[in-house]
Amino acid sequence: MESLKQKILTEGKVLSDSVIKVDAFLNHQVDPGFMQLVGDEFASKFALTGVNKIITLESSGITPAVMTGLGLGVPVVFARKRKSLTLNHHLYSAEVYSYTKKESNEISVSKDYIDSDDVVLIIDDILANGQAALGMIDLVEQTGAALEGIGIVIEKGFQEGGELLRRRGIRVESLATIASLKNGQVTFQNGEETI
Ligand code: 5GP
Repeated sequence: MESLKQKILTEGKVLSDSVIKVDAFLNHQVDPGFMQLVGDEFASKFALTGVNKIITLESSGITPAVMTGLGLGVPVVFARKRKSLTLNHHLYSAEVYSYTKKESNEISVSKDYIDSDDVVLIIDDILANGQAALGMIDLVEQTGAALEGIGIVIEKGFQEGGELLRRRGIRVESLATIASLKNGQVTFQNGEETI
């Protein structure tokens, strides 16, 4: 998605050889018009697949997921990272290990909003080592629902998540794939753009 690549180049900040900050449009501030384009792109990729529910993980997955839900006309369920007063039983839960934080967190969804008849699309903001995606897949498998695929806004192709998921036969659609962040420069998988 060309406009996304431009956004990464102009508004992203390379923090290290492996981490990019995209707070300006994805992880903190959100550009709603742009996010609608992101949602439309996912919606066109997953149109006519029978997807009737989108699952994402709070908080940065919610915006692209909701915009995709708008495009496909289907509801969005976001897995929670913390149990709350109203979400504390009748749950599916899975563990997600974070390589960056070096800790495991439990993620949960209510059994009320997903069941075995559903055809699910997982949407997330960034794919790195794939642990968040694997946690959401675990939740979907517990429900007995069918997993149609995974939509990722930004894939870091130099980390193992994409390969891990595709090797499992899962359809993974990334709108921009970063091949390298070395020397403060962004290189995309199919091109030479840099910052
Ligand atoms: P994974 O579970 O695939 O290793 O990591 C997924 C999550 O970690 C993403 O949803 C994102 O929140 C965070 N993350 C991993 N790498 C980066 C990065 O380079 N930049 C930002 N902004 N977030 C990242």
